[in-house]
Amino acid sequence: MNIITAYEINNHGVANPQYYQGVRTSLTDLDNAVTGSGDTFNEALDDALEQIAQCFDDVSGIDTIYQDEKLDEKSNEELSVSHEEYLAVSNSVSPADYDDCALDDGSFCECCHRKAVTERIDENESFLIYYVSVFYKVGTPSAMPECYDRLNIAPTGFYLKTVRDGHMTIYYGPFESQQSAQDELDAEPDNDTTIVERG
Ligand SMILES: [Zn+2]
Repeated sequence: MNIITAYEINNHGVANPQYYQGVRTSLTDLDNAVTGSGDTFNEALDDALEQIAQCFDDVSGIDTIYQDEKLDEKSNEELSVSHEEYLAVSNSVSPADYDDCALDDGSFCECCHRKAVTERIDENESFLIYYVSVFYKVGTPSAMPECYDRLNIAPTGFYLKTVRDGHMTIYYGPFESQQSAQDELDAEPDNDTTIVERG
């Protein structure tokens, strides 16, 4: 039985499908790549993982990836088509566009601004889509070390996680020992951690 032994998530963000370039595995040492799409990061991630799941009998590892990587509700709202559209349209709205405001002195009003932006978005049909790619490597579970259970990161192995330029990279792989795996995980100071690659 094969499982995913390494993966990397590439957060492309919002793009117009007409201009979206797709991904190439030649940029990484991972053999396979799948791109998911949706209205938000979580939707696109879920879409990509569902495509991968169709190639596996046991999808518990893929469910674990989703549970580990999905964003909380608030962050997911910010990584979405609607947020991107809001930001883009927001710049084009000024107090002159809501002259029926109760403040009535031409100053910025949060409530009226939001309403004007939403109306302007509704007038235009959206063509944007949120894209997330998952690169992955397939191998056998026998490559997994014995500390697998203790760390309770099932069944994809141990990981170190980094974020650079919106590009989240996670390497899984066997560590020398239970202690060295734990040490690596404990030593990770923050999101700017150096990538540690394991065979
Ligand atoms: Zn107002």
